[in-house]
Amino acid sequence: MTREPERSCVGCRERAPKAELVRVARTPAGVRVDHGNGLGRGAYVHRDPACVVAALRQGALANALRTGLAQEELARLRKEIEEAAQAI
Ligand SMILES: [Zn+2]
Repeated sequence: MTREPERSCVGCRERAPKAELVRVARTPAGVRVDHGNGLGRGAYVHRDPACVVAALRQGALANALRTGLAQEELARLRKEIEEAAQAI
C-alpha cells in the first residue's frame, strides 16, 4: 500500500492528496499553473473555487511563492486555475 503524498491548500490551509489539488508554480516566465512539469517553487490549491478565490485574494498564493502578484496577474491566474480545475 502506497501512501499518497499530501500537500496543503494555500486557500483553506487544509491538507489533501496532491491529486485533488492544482499546482501553481513560479517559473522564469511568471507564475503559471503547473501541468505536471514540476517546475520552480510550487504552491497547491483545491479545485474548489472558494479556495482559489481565497488563495488569490488574501495574497496567500503570492506569499507561498515568495513573489508579488499584480491585479492583472491575479485575474489571469484565477482563470487558469479554474480551467485546470475543470479539466480533470
Ligand atoms: Zn482548500
